[in-house]
Amino acid sequence: MTNQPTLPTTRAFIAGPKRMLINGEWHDSATGETIEVLNPADGSVLCRVPNANETDIDRAVQAARRAFDDSAWSRMKPTDRERLLLRAADAIEASAREFAEIEALDNGKSAAVAEALDVTMAAQCFRYMAGWATKIEGSTVDAAIPYSPSNAYFGYTRKEAVGVVGAIIPWNFPLLMAAWKLAPALAAGCTVVLKPAEDTPLSALRLGELLQETGFPAGVVNIVTGYGRTAGAALAKHPGLDKIAFTGSTPTGKAIGHAALDNMTRMSLELGGKSPVIVLPDVDIDKAAEGVANAIFFNSGQVCTAGSRVYVHDKVFDRVMERVASIADSMKLGPGLDPSTQIGPLVSARQLDRVLGYIDAGQTEGARTIAGGGRGEGAGFFVKPTVLVDTDHSMRVVREEIFGPVLVAMRFNDLDTVVKQANDTPYGLGASIWSNDLSAIHKLIPRIKAGTVWVNCHSLLDNAVPFGGFKQSGFGRELGRAALDMYTETKSVLINHA
Ligand code: ADP
Repeated sequence: MTNQPTLPTTRAFIAGPKRMLINGEWHDSATGETIEVLNPADGSVLCRVPNANETDIDRAVQAARRAFDDSAWSRMKPTDRERLLLRAADAIEASAREFAEIEALDNGKSAAVAEALDVTMAAQCFRYMAGWATKIEGSTVDAAIPYSPSNAYFGYTRKEAVGVVGAIIPWNFPLLMAAWKLAPALAAGCTVVLKPAEDTPLSALRLGELLQETGFPAGVVNIVTGYGRTAGAALAKHPGLDKIAFTGSTPTGKAIGHAALDNMTRMSLELGGKSPVIVLPDVDIDKAAEGVANAIFFNSGQVCTAGSRVYVHDKVFDRVMERVASIADSMKLGPGLDPSTQIGPLVSARQLDRVLGYIDAGQTEGARTIAGGGRGEGAGFFVKPTVLVDTDHSMRVVREEIFGPVLVAMRFNDLDTVVKQANDTPYGLGASIWSNDLSAIHKLIPRIKAGTVWVNCHSLLDNAVPFGGFKQSGFGRELGRAALDMYTETKSVLINHA
């Protein structure tokens, strides 16, 4: 079992000093305080990062404001913004293995998966958004003002960068979430203060180094590290922000939303989920079971769209769930840097306690465990992939977001019942349907209240396809053309040319 990075550059980065990027320079926190960053595979201390407070946040927001107003950025040609974003994409790709190793050490995830997925998607996000920098368009309007005798009006709209963006991101896909926030904001011409999660700040700091080398003007991208309740809260309530973009849990999203509303700061919130997976009776049992297992166990279940509730038609329930349980039992737990690892540790001791607490609660409420059901071996924050059956909608494990490798399974007999069950949740982020019955699939899609419905796949993302939630899973859409709307304001112009 290996838990060591192979690249000298990764080792040098982990061992080197960690400072925050403010106004193009690297700074310690105002107080000099730091936060320990742990390796979740063994609980050891990897390094320390600055613990930002309100003063640091204020400096970063002011730097972003000056950069937004400065002509080096505000008058930069869209083609030049595009070129910078394309360079950023190339730089991420050139450091793909290093980023993957950093993510494995900091978050616990498989380096192989991180390289293929997180890093590739992050680079592609910069590349995709680079294209939009030159395609931000308003529209023209033939204005005909009813109470004016003149017919000599011309109207048009401009899409203008919203301004200074505060971005607060979670720990489950640290680099990818940084890319989802930075790339569209920069394409639109905004400046950004990014706060990564305290559990996983490292890839954002490394990305900051690359973006500096890429040539973004000082202050356009600022990266501050700190706790949510201090640095995050100070950022969310800072009156100098024009927009806050958050990805994380629903309770934290609500707190951020309240703080933002006091200043009328624009906000987009990508929050929690409890995504249903619906398996119809016509499926190939093995393929469906593999899909169900991947939907929940990918990234150790630490995915906002994780398929954490499965509804399987009564005709195939026993066979599908038996197979899912055997996949769960066969998965190899280990550190993300070990190429044979199939399921890494959870990110932190806090998450470990939380997830184990849910498994206990489910068992106490009467659920039956058919796979896993407890902590994995070793000092790391491992939880065995767990499958609970005999569950129902009165149980906390069915109603609440667990954010770990825990699946609850329920039976259904007809589409009306499964629609009711699938929608019986405050969340509405994702859902998947497993079937080849086109008629049933098309009956279900419009009735499922979720921002994304996958068919015969789950949690797949494409930079061109908008992503976001219904209900308490948030507001706004990331990715695709829709992302640009979140970082631009519409200005209407009416000209009287009589
Ligand atoms: P978790 O509870 O799993 O850590 P959160 O949604 O609380 O998930 O965390 C996601 C991000 O939100 C992190 O960057 C965290 O530091 C930040 N955060 C947590 N609490 C607050 C808060 N009150 N205000 C602003 N940001 C916060």
